[in-house]
Amino acid sequence: MKRQIKEDIAAIGRRLYEHQLNGSYGGNFSVREEEFIYITPSGVPKDELDYSDILVIDFSGNVVEGEGKPSSEILFHIKIYKVRPDVNAIIHAHPPYATGFAIANSSIPNNVHEESTLILGDVPVIPYEITSSKELAENIGKAIQDHNALLLANHGALTVGDTLERAFRRMEELENLCKMLTVANLLGGAKPIPQDKLENLLTLSLTLHF
Ligand SMILES: [Zn+2]
Repeated sequence: MKRQIKEDIAAIGRRLYEHQLNGSYGGNFSVREEEFIYITPSGVPKDELDYSDILVIDFSGNVVEGEGKPSSEILFHIKIYKVRPDVNAIIHAHPPYATGFAIANSSIPNNVHEESTLILGDVPVIPYEITSSKELAENIGKAIQDHNALLLANHGALTVGDTLERAFRRMEELENLCKMLTVANLLGGAKPIPQDKLENLLTLSLTLHF
């Protein structure tokens, strides 16, 4: 199996931690390569991950390389890769502002901030189900079909991408957006981009590749 993919996943754990996008124990990340999924283990602090900690599993959840137990949330990783052939990386984290929105069950429309409109689109809140459950994987599997970022009620956030870097950028954008909206809420609430301008803006996303 490829050491570089494991190095990249371990590096994302440190980056998320350093950018205050995740605590030590929360979250899990993975990369799909062909018929295998490289995924973080459970119980290892995300800011201390070494490439050798990363496990490789198959689509039935069997460990094919590595020591230890894979993340308890492998079910939704497998589900996402099955329903989104264009997705090769998943980041699930607990960034404090985005998780605050998830706790408040507050979804984010696609018309409040220009850059976020293009990078994230709208961000729905997935109804609460217990971590690692089949029900949670089912709910995520449905919602991810037409979204690249989700809030998981009373739990955290999830982003996907064709690369790990793109999934990271989306998580960073989501957390920044939730900070901006928190300020906007203090000032009377977000005002939407006018509908006719929004339609023009959305056509840009066809030419700009984020
Ligand atoms: Zn979680």
